[in-house]
Amino acid sequence: MESHQLLAVAEEFGSPVYVYDAAKIQSQYQRLTNAFSKVERLRINYAVKALSNLSVLKLLKQMNSGLDTVSIQEVQLGLHAGFSPDKIIYTPNGVSLDEIEEVARLGVQINIDNLSILEQFGTKHPQIPVCIRINPHVMAGGNSNISVGHIDSKFGISVHQLPHVLRIVENTNMDINGIHMHTGSDILDIEVFLYASEILFDAAKNFKTLDFIDFGSGFKVPYKKGDIETNIEELGKKLSKRFNAFEREYGRELTLTFEPGKFLVSEAGYFLAKVNVVKQTTSTVFAGIDSGFNHLIRPMLYGSEHQIENISHPKGKERFYTVVGYICETDTFASNRRITEIKEGDILCFKNAGAYCFTMASNYNSRCKPAEVLWMNDKAHLITKRETFEDIIRNQIEIDM
Ligand SMILES: *Cc1c(COP(=O)(O)O)cnc(C)c1O
Repeated sequence: MESHQLLAVAEEFGSPVYVYDAAKIQSQYQRLTNAFSKVERLRINYAVKALSNLSVLKLLKQMNSGLDTVSIQEVQLGLHAGFSPDKIIYTPNGVSLDEIEEVARLGVQINIDNLSILEQFGTKHPQIPVCIRINPHVMAGGNSNISVGHIDSKFGISVHQLPHVLRIVENTNMDINGIHMHTGSDILDIEVFLYASEILFDAAKNFKTLDFIDFGSGFKVPYKKGDIETNIEELGKKLSKRFNAFEREYGRELTLTFEPGKFLVSEAGYFLAKVNVVKQTTSTVFAGIDSGFNHLIRPMLYGSEHQIENISHPKGKERFYTVVGYICETDTFASNRRITEIKEGDILCFKNAGAYCFTMASNYNSRCKPAEVLWMNDKAHLITKRETFEDIIRNQIEIDM
């Protein structure tokens, strides 16, 4: 999106505000499907937790996307947005058997990631098809908070426990229709992805009635200059060929499934915040904005470097700034960042604000969550109202004292 369009959105809806470019979400979806056009049956299940606004879900539905969900509430969101249950997969971690049964009753594909629940579910509902989440133990990416396929991870059933899985399947006579992996949110290299895929193919051979193989996600998008980006086109070429060969060997029609979140929505998002104060100290110049980790926590939680531009004064000379929030805690968005000279009242634009930004927002410091705007067909559409004080106290019950 262009700076003048973003400024107009901030003008109309106030700050802070999240803005999503529909065309970018659509083009990323198209890029992914094009890369795998040689695969007969491809299914993209958008990972709802990245950005769960109903209008964004509807946009993806228009493109024929399915959904990947991690809670029954995300399943309900998907159904509410008009997705049919058979377009949704449910991949929870550490949730109760009760919740899994409730989701299964809705007709949604279940993905189970531990032996205990697998045995209980298979014993009670042998007729309901289940997907199994395998942990291939591949270390993907450098940050252990977002690498979920390694040996100490809480996610998935270890590939070394396959004999136990097979015993449960045999004893309960349950129907395994899918096999799944999701190795983490920061796959640096295609070879790592293909290596993990081989482990999944090997595991798949143990099941005779699979309908799909789900390779999860973890596709990397660039956040700052010089960042590596998953080469989707190259992955598409290599994995499609391998998948098609495996399908022939397996002797049964298989669907290749992915569940990207970040890849589809990260770059479509912009977070706009206003500079309340420029504060010169003995060591730096702080630019204090009308937001904090209550609205955008990724820099503090993961050390993510979101590019920041001063869209009010993009032509000024560059200076070094430390961009901080208004939360009464250290909430540094960026240190020693070169930004064109900032004046109080300027609008700063954070890039890559589509994935895991608004969905991780909170009301800390009793602040209201920002508004969300979808930019579609050259028009700004408000898709989430800015919260008000009423929202802050909505569920509180005042007792007599
Ligand atoms: C979060 C998640 C995804 C999406 O990961 P991205 O890195 O955003 O693409 C996919 N699958 C599962 C099971 C997840 O938990």
